[in-house]
Amino acid sequence: MTQKVGGPIPVRTTIFEAMSAKAVAHGAINLGQGFPDACGPQSVREAAARALLEGPHQYPRMRGTDALREAIGRHYAATQGLPFDPVGEIVVTSGATEALAAAIFALLGPGDGAIVIEPAYDAYAPLVRRAGAVPQFVRLQPPGWRIDRALLEAAVTPATRVILVNDPVNPTGRMLDAQEREAIRDVALAHDLLIIADEVWEEVRPNHRLHVSLAADPALRSRTVKIGSAGKIFQVTGWKVGWACAAPDLAARIAATHQYLTFTTSPALQQAVAEGLDGERGWLTGMRDEIEAGRAHLAAGLQSAGFALLPSEATWFLSIDLTASGIAIDDVSFCTRLVVQHGVAAIPVSAFFEGEDVPRNAVRFCHAKARATIDSALKRLARAKSDF
Ligand code: PMP
Repeated sequence: MTQKVGGPIPVRTTIFEAMSAKAVAHGAINLGQGFPDACGPQSVREAAARALLEGPHQYPRMRGTDALREAIGRHYAATQGLPFDPVGEIVVTSGATEALAAAIFALLGPGDGAIVIEPAYDAYAPLVRRAGAVPQFVRLQPPGWRIDRALLEAAVTPATRVILVNDPVNPTGRMLDAQEREAIRDVALAHDLLIIADEVWEEVRPNHRLHVSLAADPALRSRTVKIGSAGKIFQVTGWKVGWACAAPDLAARIAATHQYLTFTTSPALQQAVAEGLDGERGWLTGMRDEIEAGRAHLAAGLQSAGFALLPSEATWFLSIDLTASGIAIDDVSFCTRLVVQHGVAAIPVSAFFEGEDVPRNAVRFCHAKARATIDSALKRLARAKSDF
Protein backbone atom coordinates (compact mmCIF):
# COMPACT_ATOMS: atom_id res chain seq x y z
CA MET A 1 0.00 0.00 0.00
CA THR A 2 1.34 3.42 -0.82
CA GLN A 3 1.48 5.94 1.91
CA LYS A 4 -0.08 9.33 1.30
CA VAL A 5 2.58 11.98 1.87
CA GLY A 6 3.16 15.66 1.43
CA GLY A 7 1.24 18.84 1.75
CA PRO A 8 -0.57 21.09 -0.62
CA ILE A 9 2.56 22.69 -2.06
CA PRO A 10 4.80 20.89 -4.54
CA VAL A 11 8.43 21.55 -3.71
CA ARG A 12 11.06 20.76 -6.31
CA THR A 13 14.72 20.00 -5.74
CA THR A 14 16.64 23.27 -5.96
CA ILE A 15 18.63 23.98 -9.10
CA PHE A 16 21.78 24.20 -6.95
CA GLU A 17 21.36 20.67 -5.61
CA ALA A 18 20.45 19.36 -9.07
CA MET A 19 23.45 20.98 -10.77
CA SER A 20 25.85 19.88 -8.02
CA ALA A 21 24.60 16.30 -8.47
CA LYS A 22 25.20 16.56 -12.25
CA ALA A 23 28.67 18.01 -11.57
CA VAL A 24 29.52 14.95 -9.46
CA ALA A 25 28.00 12.50 -11.95
CA HIS A 26 30.00 13.97 -14.85
CA GLY A 27 33.21 14.74 -12.97
CA ALA A 28 32.69 18.41 -13.80
CA ILE A 29 34.29 21.51 -12.28
CA ASN A 30 31.53 23.00 -10.17
CA LEU A 31 31.10 26.71 -10.79
CA GLY A 32 27.38 26.24 -10.18
CA GLN A 33 26.41 26.15 -6.53
CA GLY A 34 27.64 29.15 -4.55
CA PHE A 35 30.30 28.02 -2.17
CA PRO A 36 33.91 29.17 -2.04
CA ASP A 37 37.06 27.05 -2.16
CA ALA A 38 38.47 29.11 0.73
CA CYS A 39 37.14 28.65 4.25
CA GLY A 40 37.43 31.79 6.30
CA PRO A 41 39.86 32.99 8.93
CA GLN A 42 41.85 30.39 10.86
CA SER A 43 40.99 32.10 14.16
CA VAL A 44 37.27 31.57 13.58
CA ARG A 45 37.76 27.87 12.90
CA GLU A 46 40.03 27.58 15.94
CA ALA A 47 37.41 29.29 18.07
CA ALA A 48 34.84 26.74 16.87
CA ALA A 49 37.20 23.84 17.65
CA ARG A 50 37.96 25.19 21.11
CA ALA A 51 34.29 25.76 21.85
CA LEU A 52 33.51 22.21 20.70
CA LEU A 53 36.05 20.80 23.15
CA GLU A 54 35.25 23.04 26.06
CA GLY A 55 31.50 23.45 25.63
CA PRO A 56 28.88 24.43 26.50
CA HIS A 57 27.09 21.75 24.55
CA GLN A 58 23.46 22.17 25.54
CA TYR A 59 20.68 24.27 24.07
CA PRO A 60 21.72 27.91 23.99
CA ARG A 61 19.23 30.75 24.50
CA MET A 62 16.43 30.55 21.98
CA ARG A 63 17.23 33.96 20.46
CA GLY A 64 20.96 33.15 20.30
CA THR A 65 23.85 33.36 22.74
CA ASP A 66 24.41 36.71 24.45
CA ALA A 67 27.93 36.75 23.01
CA LEU A 68 26.76 36.43 19.41
CA ARG A 69 23.84 38.85 19.67
CA GLU A 70 26.10 41.43 21.26
CA ALA A 71 28.76 40.89 18.59
CA ILE A 72 26.17 41.28 15.79
CA GLY A 73 25.00 44.52 17.42
CA ARG A 74 28.58 45.85 17.58
CA HIS A 75 29.30 44.65 14.02
CA TYR A 76 26.43 46.57 12.39
CA ALA A 77 27.02 49.64 14.53
CA ALA A 78 30.69 49.68 13.48
CA THR A 79 30.38 48.67 9.83
CA GLN A 80 27.07 50.24 8.77
CA GLY A 81 26.40 52.81 11.51
CA LEU A 82 23.29 50.76 12.21
CA PRO A 83 22.77 49.84 15.86
CA PHE A 84 20.46 46.99 16.90
CA ASP A 85 19.65 46.17 20.52
CA PRO A 86 21.07 42.68 21.20
CA VAL A 87 18.33 41.93 23.73
CA GLY A 88 15.21 42.87 21.81
CA GLU A 89 16.17 43.27 18.16
CA ILE A 90 18.35 40.32 17.14
CA VAL A 91 17.35 36.67 16.62
CA VAL A 92 20.08 34.17 15.72
CA THR A 93 18.92 31.45 13.33
CA SER A 94 20.23 28.32 11.65
CA GLY A 95 21.41 30.12 8.55
CA ALA A 96 19.79 33.01 6.71
CA THR A 97 17.44 30.43 5.21
CA GLU A 98 15.88 29.86 8.59
CA ALA A 99 15.77 33.61 9.23
CA LEU A 100 13.89 34.00 5.95
CA ALA A 101 11.49 31.20 6.87
CA ALA A 102 10.91 32.59 10.37
CA ALA A 103 10.34 36.12 9.05
CA ILE A 104 8.03 35.00 6.25
CA PHE A 105 5.99 32.72 8.52
CA ALA A 106 5.86 35.42 11.21
CA LEU A 107 4.75 38.25 8.96
CA LEU A 108 2.53 36.59 6.35
CA GLY A 109 -0.65 34.59 6.67
CA PRO A 110 -3.14 32.92 4.34
CA GLY A 111 -4.22 35.22 1.52
CA ASP A 112 -1.54 37.84 2.14
CA GLY A 113 0.65 38.99 -0.73
CA ALA A 114 4.44 39.29 -0.77
CA ILE A 115 6.28 41.10 -3.54
CA VAL A 116 9.05 38.86 -4.88
CA ILE A 117 11.51 40.54 -7.24
CA GLU A 118 12.78 38.28 -10.02
CA PRO A 119 15.42 37.07 -10.55
CA ALA A 120 14.69 35.91 -6.99
CA TYR A 121 16.69 33.72 -4.63
CA ASP A 122 14.95 30.42 -4.96
CA ALA A 123 13.78 30.03 -1.35
CA TYR A 124 11.48 33.06 -1.39
CA ALA A 125 8.42 31.95 -3.35
CA PRO A 126 8.20 28.43 -1.84
CA LEU A 127 8.43 29.88 1.68
CA VAL A 128 5.79 32.50 0.92
CA ARG A 129 3.48 29.73 -0.32
CA ARG A 130 4.22 27.62 2.77
CA ALA A 131 2.89 30.57 4.79
CA GLY A 132 -0.33 30.31 2.77
CA ALA A 133 0.50 33.64 1.17
CA VAL A 134 0.85 34.54 -2.50
CA PRO A 135 4.08 35.63 -4.22
CA GLN A 136 3.45 38.74 -6.32
CA PHE A 137 6.24 38.72 -8.86
CA VAL A 138 8.04 41.77 -10.19
CA ARG A 139 10.15 40.78 -13.16
CA LEU A 140 13.40 42.62 -13.88
CA GLN A 141 15.07 42.56 -17.28
CA PRO A 142 18.69 42.12 -18.31
CA PRO A 143 21.15 43.62 -18.86
CA GLY A 144 20.38 46.25 -16.17
CA TRP A 145 18.13 44.19 -13.88
CA ARG A 146 16.99 47.51 -12.31
CA ILE A 147 14.08 47.93 -9.93
CA ASP A 148 11.83 50.90 -10.59
CA ARG A 149 8.89 52.34 -8.78
CA ALA A 150 6.35 51.73 -11.55
CA LEU A 151 7.22 48.02 -11.66
CA LEU A 152 6.80 47.70 -7.90
CA GLU A 153 3.60 49.76 -7.84
CA ALA A 154 2.07 47.58 -10.55
CA ALA A 155 2.48 44.48 -8.37
CA VAL A 156 0.92 45.90 -5.19
CA THR A 157 -2.63 44.87 -4.34
CA PRO A 158 -4.73 45.42 -1.21
CA ALA A 159 -3.47 42.01 -0.03
CA THR A 160 0.22 42.97 -0.19
CA ARG A 161 1.94 42.98 3.20
CA VAL A 162 5.64 42.52 2.50
CA ILE A 163 8.32 43.35 -0.07
CA LEU A 164 11.16 40.83 -0.17
CA VAL A 165 14.38 42.50 -1.27
CA ASN A 166 17.77 40.92 -1.87
CA ASP A 167 20.76 43.28 -1.94
CA PRO A 168 23.45 42.61 -3.12
CA VAL A 169 21.58 40.35 -5.49
CA ASN A 170 22.07 36.63 -6.01
CA PRO A 171 22.22 35.71 -8.92
CA THR A 172 23.08 38.94 -10.76
CA GLY A 173 25.83 40.24 -8.48
CA ARG A 174 24.27 43.73 -8.61
CA MET A 175 24.11 46.18 -5.72
CA LEU A 176 20.99 48.31 -5.58
CA ASP A 177 21.56 52.01 -6.19
CA ALA A 178 20.07 54.92 -4.25
CA GLN A 179 17.21 55.37 -6.73
CA GLU A 180 16.17 51.74 -6.42
CA ARG A 181 16.26 51.92 -2.63
CA GLU A 182 14.17 55.08 -2.84
CA ALA A 183 11.61 53.33 -5.05
CA ILE A 184 11.34 50.52 -2.50
CA ARG A 185 11.00 53.01 0.33
CA ASP A 186 8.31 55.06 -1.43
CA VAL A 187 6.22 52.00 -2.26
CA ALA A 188 6.62 50.52 1.23
CA LEU A 189 5.54 53.78 2.86
CA ALA A 190 2.73 54.52 0.41
CA HIS A 191 1.16 51.09 0.98
CA ASP A 192 2.22 50.48 4.58
CA LEU A 193 4.33 47.42 3.71
CA LEU A 194 6.96 45.60 5.72
CA ILE A 195 10.34 44.85 4.12
CA ILE A 196 12.30 41.64 4.46
CA ALA A 197 15.80 42.72 3.44
CA ASP A 198 17.96 39.70 2.62
CA GLU A 199 21.41 41.27 2.92
CA VAL A 200 23.49 38.11 3.31
CA TRP A 201 25.97 39.37 0.67
CA GLU A 202 26.54 42.72 2.41
CA GLU A 203 30.26 42.05 3.02
CA VAL A 204 31.00 40.45 -0.36
CA ARG A 205 31.54 43.56 -2.50
CA PRO A 206 34.44 45.74 -3.55
CA ASN A 207 36.09 47.57 -0.64
CA HIS A 208 35.21 50.95 -2.11
CA ARG A 209 31.49 50.12 -2.56
CA LEU A 210 29.77 50.43 0.81
CA HIS A 211 26.64 48.43 1.46
CA VAL A 212 23.65 50.57 2.43
CA SER A 213 21.02 48.61 4.31
CA LEU A 214 17.34 49.38 3.78
CA ALA A 215 17.16 49.31 7.60
CA ALA A 216 19.58 52.28 7.68
CA ASP A 217 16.84 54.50 6.22
CA PRO A 218 15.20 56.06 9.30
CA ALA A 219 11.83 55.95 7.53
CA LEU A 220 12.18 52.17 7.09
CA ARG A 221 13.95 51.15 10.31
CA SER A 222 10.76 50.15 12.14
CA ARG A 223 9.32 48.18 9.20
CA THR A 224 12.43 46.33 7.96
CA VAL A 225 13.75 42.90 8.89
CA LYS A 226 17.45 42.76 8.05
CA ILE A 227 18.80 39.26 7.44
CA GLY A 228 22.48 38.30 7.58
CA SER A 229 24.61 35.15 7.30
CA ALA A 230 27.95 34.22 8.84
CA GLY A 231 28.28 31.65 6.04
CA LYS A 232 28.82 34.44 3.54
CA ILE A 233 30.81 36.78 5.80
CA PHE A 234 33.35 34.12 6.86
CA GLN A 235 33.13 31.73 3.88
CA VAL A 236 31.71 28.90 5.99
CA THR A 237 28.48 28.19 4.14
CA GLY A 238 28.03 24.80 5.80
CA TRP A 239 27.89 26.29 9.29
CA LYS A 240 24.41 27.72 8.77
CA VAL A 241 24.59 30.54 11.29
CA GLY A 242 22.40 33.49 10.36
CA TRP A 243 20.25 36.13 11.99
CA ALA A 244 17.33 38.49 11.66
CA CYS A 245 17.50 42.05 13.05
CA ALA A 246 14.37 44.14 13.42
CA ALA A 247 12.41 46.45 15.70
CA PRO A 248 11.33 44.71 18.94
CA ASP A 249 7.74 43.94 17.89
CA LEU A 250 8.84 42.33 14.62
CA ALA A 251 11.79 40.54 16.30
CA ALA A 252 9.43 39.11 18.93
CA ARG A 253 7.17 37.68 16.24
CA ILE A 254 10.15 36.21 14.39
CA ALA A 255 11.53 34.73 17.63
CA ALA A 256 8.17 33.12 18.37
CA THR A 257 8.17 31.45 14.93
CA HIS A 258 11.82 30.44 15.27
CA GLN A 259 10.90 28.48 18.44
CA TYR A 260 9.15 25.87 16.33
CA LEU A 261 11.52 25.79 13.38
CA THR A 262 14.92 25.01 14.88
CA PHE A 263 14.61 26.74 18.29
CA THR A 264 18.37 27.28 18.41
CA THR A 265 21.75 26.90 16.69
CA SER A 266 25.02 25.17 17.61
CA PRO A 267 26.61 27.01 20.57
CA ALA A 268 30.16 26.32 19.38
CA LEU A 269 29.50 27.89 15.99
CA GLN A 270 27.74 30.85 17.59
CA GLN A 271 30.79 31.40 19.80
CA ALA A 272 33.16 31.23 16.83
CA VAL A 273 31.08 33.68 14.77
CA ALA A 274 30.89 36.06 17.74
CA GLU A 275 34.69 36.04 18.06
CA GLY A 276 35.07 36.48 14.31
CA LEU A 277 32.74 39.47 14.09
CA ASP A 278 34.72 41.23 16.82
CA GLY A 279 38.22 40.05 15.96
CA GLU A 280 38.39 39.61 12.19
CA ARG A 281 36.99 42.83 10.78
CA GLY A 282 40.41 43.43 9.25
CA TRP A 283 40.28 40.03 7.50
CA LEU A 284 37.19 41.16 5.60
CA THR A 285 39.20 43.75 3.66
CA GLY A 286 41.60 41.12 2.31
CA MET A 287 38.73 38.72 1.64
CA ARG A 288 37.02 41.35 -0.50
CA ASP A 289 40.18 42.02 -2.48
CA GLU A 290 40.64 38.30 -3.13
CA ILE A 291 37.04 37.88 -4.23
CA GLU A 292 37.36 40.86 -6.56
CA ALA A 293 40.54 39.41 -8.03
CA GLY A 294 38.71 36.11 -8.66
CA ARG A 295 35.82 37.94 -10.31
CA ALA A 296 38.18 39.92 -12.54
CA HIS A 297 40.13 36.78 -13.47
CA LEU A 298 37.06 34.76 -14.45
CA ALA A 299 35.59 37.79 -16.25
CA ALA A 300 38.76 38.35 -18.29
CA GLY A 301 39.01 34.66 -19.18
CA LEU A 302 35.38 34.44 -20.22
CA GLN A 303 35.70 37.54 -22.35
CA SER A 304 38.81 36.35 -24.11
CA ALA A 305 37.02 33.05 -24.81
CA GLY A 306 34.33 35.10 -26.57
CA PHE A 307 31.60 35.26 -23.93
CA ALA A 308 29.78 38.55 -23.30
CA LEU A 309 29.31 39.43 -19.63
CA LEU A 310 26.45 41.00 -17.72
CA PRO A 311 27.44 43.61 -15.14
CA SER A 312 28.32 42.17 -11.71
CA GLU A 313 30.11 43.81 -8.80
CA ALA A 314 29.20 41.88 -5.65
CA THR A 315 28.50 38.34 -4.37
CA TRP A 316 30.49 35.33 -5.59
CA PHE A 317 28.73 35.37 -8.96
CA LEU A 318 28.93 36.75 -12.44
CA SER A 319 26.81 35.95 -15.45
CA ILE A 320 27.31 35.66 -19.17
CA ASP A 321 24.77 36.82 -21.74
CA LEU A 322 24.23 33.98 -24.21
CA THR A 323 22.52 36.09 -26.88
CA ALA A 324 25.24 38.74 -26.81
CA SER A 325 27.80 35.90 -26.92
CA GLY A 326 26.30 34.68 -30.20
CA ILE A 327 24.87 31.52 -28.61
CA ALA A 328 21.40 30.71 -29.86
CA ILE A 329 20.26 28.11 -27.30
CA ASP A 330 18.57 28.80 -23.98
CA ASP A 331 20.31 28.83 -20.60
CA VAL A 332 19.04 25.42 -19.45
CA SER A 333 20.16 23.66 -22.67
CA PHE A 334 23.48 25.49 -22.48
CA CYS A 335 24.11 24.47 -18.85
CA THR A 336 23.09 20.88 -19.52
CA ARG A 337 25.45 20.55 -22.49
CA LEU A 338 28.18 22.42 -20.63
CA VAL A 339 28.15 20.03 -17.67
CA VAL A 340 27.62 16.80 -19.63
CA GLN A 341 29.87 17.40 -22.63
CA HIS A 342 32.40 19.96 -21.40
CA GLY A 343 32.72 19.25 -17.67
CA VAL A 344 31.75 22.63 -16.20
CA ALA A 345 28.69 23.14 -14.02
CA ALA A 346 26.91 26.53 -14.06
CA ILE A 347 23.44 27.76 -13.12
CA PRO A 348 20.76 28.85 -15.64
CA VAL A 349 19.45 32.21 -14.42
CA SER A 350 15.92 31.33 -15.63
CA ALA A 351 15.79 29.07 -12.54
CA PHE A 352 15.41 32.28 -10.52
CA PHE A 353 12.10 33.03 -12.29
CA GLU A 354 8.66 31.44 -12.43
CA GLY A 355 6.09 31.38 -15.19
CA GLU A 356 6.22 32.06 -18.92
CA ASP A 357 8.40 34.35 -21.02
CA VAL A 358 11.25 34.50 -18.55
CA PRO A 359 14.68 35.71 -19.66
CA ARG A 360 16.58 32.62 -20.83
CA ASN A 361 19.85 34.10 -21.96
CA ALA A 362 21.85 34.44 -18.73
CA VAL A 363 24.09 31.83 -17.09
CA ARG A 364 25.61 32.28 -13.63
CA PHE A 365 29.12 31.20 -12.62
CA CYS A 366 30.60 31.18 -9.11
CA HIS A 367 34.06 32.76 -9.19
CA ALA A 368 34.96 32.27 -5.49
CA LYS A 369 37.23 29.39 -6.40
CA ALA A 370 40.96 28.64 -6.31
CA ARG A 371 42.82 30.17 -9.24
CA ALA A 372 43.71 26.69 -10.54
CA THR A 373 40.03 25.69 -10.51
CA ILE A 374 39.03 28.80 -12.44
CA ASP A 375 41.86 28.29 -14.94
CA SER A 376 40.87 24.66 -15.60
CA ALA A 377 37.26 25.72 -16.04
CA LEU A 378 38.29 28.51 -18.40
CA LYS A 379 40.20 26.06 -20.61
CA ARG A 380 37.08 23.90 -20.87
CA LEU A 381 34.86 26.93 -21.46
CA ALA A 382 37.12 28.20 -24.25
CA ARG A 383 36.86 24.78 -25.97
CA ALA A 384 33.10 24.73 -25.33
CA LYS A 385 32.58 28.17 -26.89
CA SER A 386 33.39 26.94 -30.37
CA ASP A 387 30.87 24.10 -29.91
CA PHE A 388 27.85 26.34 -29.27
N1 PMP B 1 19.75 34.46 0.71
C1 PMP B 1 20.54 34.54 -0.37
C2 PMP B 1 20.32 35.65 -1.35
C3 PMP B 1 21.54 33.60 -0.58
O1 PMP B 1 22.32 33.70 -1.67
C4 PMP B 1 21.72 32.57 0.36
C5 PMP B 1 22.76 31.48 0.19
N2 PMP B 1 23.10 31.16 -1.08
C6 PMP B 1 20.88 32.52 1.48
C7 PMP B 1 19.91 33.49 1.62
C8 PMP B 1 20.99 31.43 2.51
O2 PMP B 1 22.02 31.65 3.42
P1 PMP B 1 22.38 30.55 4.54
O3 PMP B 1 23.32 29.59 3.91
O4 PMP B 1 22.98 31.33 5.66
O5 PMP B 1 21.10 29.89 4.94
